[in-house]
Amino acid sequence: MLEISNYINGDFVESTSKLQLDVIDPSSAKVYGKMPSSNKDDIELAVQAAEKALPNWKNSTLAFRSKILQNIADLIENNAEDLARAESKDNGKPISLAAKVDIPRAAQNFSFFAKAITQFSSEAHESSGLQSINFTLRKPIGIVGCISPWNLPLYLFTWKIAPALAAGNCVVAKPSEVTPVTAFMLSKICIEAGLPKGVLNIVHGLGPAVGNALVKHPKIKAISFTGGTATGKHIATEAAPQFKKLSLELGGKNPNLIFADCDYSKMLATTVKSSFANQGQICLCGSRIFVEKSIYEQFKKDFINEVKKLKVGHPAEKSTNLGALVSKAHLEKVESYVQQIKHQNAKLLHGGNRVKVKDYEDGFYFEPTVIEVQSNTCALNQEEIFGPVVTIMPFKDETEALHLANESPYGLSATLWTQNIDRAMRLSQELETGIVWVNTWLNRDLRTPFGGTKQSGVGREGGLEALRFFTEPKNICIAY
Ligand code: NAD
Repeated sequence: MLEISNYINGDFVESTSKLQLDVIDPSSAKVYGKMPSSNKDDIELAVQAAEKALPNWKNSTLAFRSKILQNIADLIENNAEDLARAESKDNGKPISLAAKVDIPRAAQNFSFFAKAITQFSSEAHESSGLQSINFTLRKPIGIVGCISPWNLPLYLFTWKIAPALAAGNCVVAKPSEVTPVTAFMLSKICIEAGLPKGVLNIVHGLGPAVGNALVKHPKIKAISFTGGTATGKHIATEAAPQFKKLSLELGGKNPNLIFADCDYSKMLATTVKSSFANQGQICLCGSRIFVEKSIYEQFKKDFINEVKKLKVGHPAEKSTNLGALVSKAHLEKVESYVQQIKHQNAKLLHGGNRVKVKDYEDGFYFEPTVIEVQSNTCALNQEEIFGPVVTIMPFKDETEALHLANESPYGLSATLWTQNIDRAMRLSQELETGIVWVNTWLNRDLRTPFGGTKQSGVGREGGLEALRFFTEPKNICIAY
């Protein structure tokens, strides 16, 4: 049985609460490990360790910090197979996806920020006529909190930790209690990489207990959070009265606009991926598909034919396209949306059922599901389902397509399929999202700003934006 412990002050420690939570394999519903259910005392220990480590870490040379981060990246690469296996078992995602996307990206997060910090410069402003020059320092904030979700466990955890450490902060981090394993493996890697004690502390446990204690702790000066919009709202109300810096990456209900003039075969293949990759549990999945009327019936037929070819199976099987959903509670949530179809004037075109995988009958499997909706204002189109469920609906022209895309409380990303450059430019300007993909999906350059508008969050991650978030600017004005 796997035993997970907290990583505090460079050591593996039990929670002071002595309470434990089950670690569950979603592919079989079996418990295969135990993890600490930590509390505010554990956060206190982690903050104390970070406080002790901070002076040396923030004053260390860029070359030193960069080297340590690169060591971590190299060790993730060296352990990629084990990490991919662990991620797939813990989350239910196909091992092929973990091996191709999650783990390489976790390594890239560290190597990217190992290099980025050496190129991070501050600004100077010569104040003409005022006989002065201003220069802006970018100081580490101090101790920061990083909280991440279960859908891309190590990938998103490291996406926050790497820039925070690179910028000279010490970190107290909390991975999702639903998928703690690769974060635990990362703590072992950090020790081997030579990360000084207390610079990174990883505390496991439930959000309302340990996550909340982290957000509230007065010595935590900034919170970088990725997760659901409701949790983000709660965190904002806790953090705002203490004037903490906040970065919130929240939910999405991303539109996919398909025009008749698109590269049809590329669009079709990519749309299957953008609908069902990671069982639809990627915040960037395009869950609302809008198709121009003239190709709607053709698309419907071709899309369903492609979706029928997808194999739901055990995550460790190489041929599996969709693995298990992450938990029983999440499976039930996804299923509850499909059960609403009849009350929403919608029609089930494909899927909609749980799947029994041979020898793993208790696992949390669900069919890729396609629903035709009559209106964009129904709950199926307005609420985040975050599973293998997409809706499709026709539109008559560009104006209507834009209206439907923007008619949402969310604004994370949008995907646009058209060969008409003028239309691509017009719509890209008007879409109320933080990210627009034209004729592609999930195409990521780590230097670009990443994040959403409206209820999809506040702030941007990625590249220099992340380094700016994790530093405090201080302007110095010298007269001459
Ligand atoms: P969640 O909000 O339930 O949990 C996220 C993290 O917050 C977990 O570590 C959890 O323990 C912690 N948490 C829960 N309550 C807390 C509290 N009161 N105080 C502090 N921490 C608390 O989200 P989830 O179910 O793990 O993840 C799915 C959600 O994440 C979806 O809505 C998805 O869209 C979103 N997401 C967004 C992005 C993005 O970049 N915008 C990326 C991935 C996932």
